[in-house]
Amino acid sequence: MNDFSAVLLRGGTVLPMDRARSVLPDTDVLVVADRVAAIGRDLDAPEGTLVVDATDGIVMPGMVDTHRHMWQTAMRGYGADWTLTQYFVWYYLDHGTLFRPEDIHAGNVLAAIEAIDAGVTTVVDWSHGLRTVDHADAAVDALRSVPGRHVLAYGNIQQPPAEWSRSPEFRDFVARRITGDDMLGFQLAFDVTGDPAFPERPAFEVARELGVAVTTHAGVWGATSDDGIRLMHDGGFMTESTVYVHAASLSADSYQRIAATGGSISVSTESEQSAGQGYPPTWAIRAHGIPVSLSMDTSVWWSGDLFSAMRSTLGADRSREHLAAHARNETVTHCALRAEHVVEWATRGGAEALGRTDLGSLEVGNKADVVLIKNDHSPVSFPLLNPYGHVAFQAQRGDVHTVLVDGRVVKKDHRLVDVDLAAARRAVESTVDHLRSSMGEEAWRQGMNPDIPEAKVMDNPYTYTDYRSTTTHSATPTA
Ligand SMILES: [Zn+2]
Repeated sequence: MNDFSAVLLRGGTVLPMDRARSVLPDTDVLVVADRVAAIGRDLDAPEGTLVVDATDGIVMPGMVDTHRHMWQTAMRGYGADWTLTQYFVWYYLDHGTLFRPEDIHAGNVLAAIEAIDAGVTTVVDWSHGLRTVDHADAAVDALRSVPGRHVLAYGNIQQPPAEWSRSPEFRDFVARRITGDDMLGFQLAFDVTGDPAFPERPAFEVARELGVAVTTHAGVWGATSDDGIRLMHDGGFMTESTVYVHAASLSADSYQRIAATGGSISVSTESEQSAGQGYPPTWAIRAHGIPVSLSMDTSVWWSGDLFSAMRSTLGADRSREHLAAHARNETVTHCALRAEHVVEWATRGGAEALGRTDLGSLEVGNKADVVLIKNDHSPVSFPLLNPYGHVAFQAQRGDVHTVLVDGRVVKKDHRLVDVDLAAARRAVESTVDHLRSSMGEEAWRQGMNPDIPEAKVMDNPYTYTDYRSTTTHSATPTA
């Protein structure tokens, strides 16, 4: 733990992420114990305070990722060229069952470290590789070993949710490990197939009985559809705490049911763009007034930092608007989605999705999850004219200077504090060795390099045979 009683971030541009989306230049943020104690100019630093110079930097709340399969970070980058089909085959059908408890642990530890390094202070661990309760214990051990804030969203893709959620082992796990403290929340994570018999009903009833939220991949092209939403709605299982992930291929009727029941949507733009759940849906969600949070989904494809999420979400939304306008022979003259909106989704939006009004904004009395973006060695750090635009389009992980979680300094001067990265590396290397040797070299290589479909190059009417033959002629020496 830190050996100072308070932390003062001095003289930064503060984005408190309040309702007014204020921008506070030359402002101090004082943290005492686990809370934001004061925000203002020229604040006094009590005895024993760590003072951090935030001049030329941006101080904002810690970011919240509402959907990440942290165990898959052990396979970082392996699936860069996958589609959803290859992902499903690899994790659900073929190789997901090779993960031992220690492999879940290794992935979770690395993902948790990666998150705080990037200023993501709360992560929902959508942990659907929990084949046994030993795997779940390993997941919790890992999350507890890194000083980030987490929500374990318990799942098991190898068993129907009605089975694992009603097992005595699961109940015992919840009683033993889920203690209700605010560093580790709990949700149930499972998908609704749309089977008219609604076999997921008992799992929803377990969640209701436990008083915990359900998070579900909804509107995933070819996997989950409007049928699942209708079944949930008819069963009375759509609530304000339900988090719908992707929701990228739903009808207006489903969006209306989500809006009417107060749930929120976790948009994973980089995932939707590459994997194919559907077009990143913010353009549709905005029209229905549904709350949005952002997520990175899995580091088996993408990074685990929300700067990428903010950037790609702005790009996807604007692309869609331009494309739709051009189809009507019109021009978009004003962007509807602004940088301040995606920064809000990455902070306050995530906190609200989790029912945590004490996170996601810097207000006196709130939990002190705080990020300072500042990099005096970077040519991209100035001029700082539009702070929201700077966060969304200019900043990156390396610019995260200082991070506090629950008032504790976990990153300082661009360096992680009290984190054993070497041990995390050794654990992940051991997991990779295990998977690679279990799969065999050929399967390992094929898994990482899916076949490329044959491309048909279109005929080009501007290619002149005569011109080409002339060029060939001139380049060929003649006798
Ligand atoms: Zn996912």
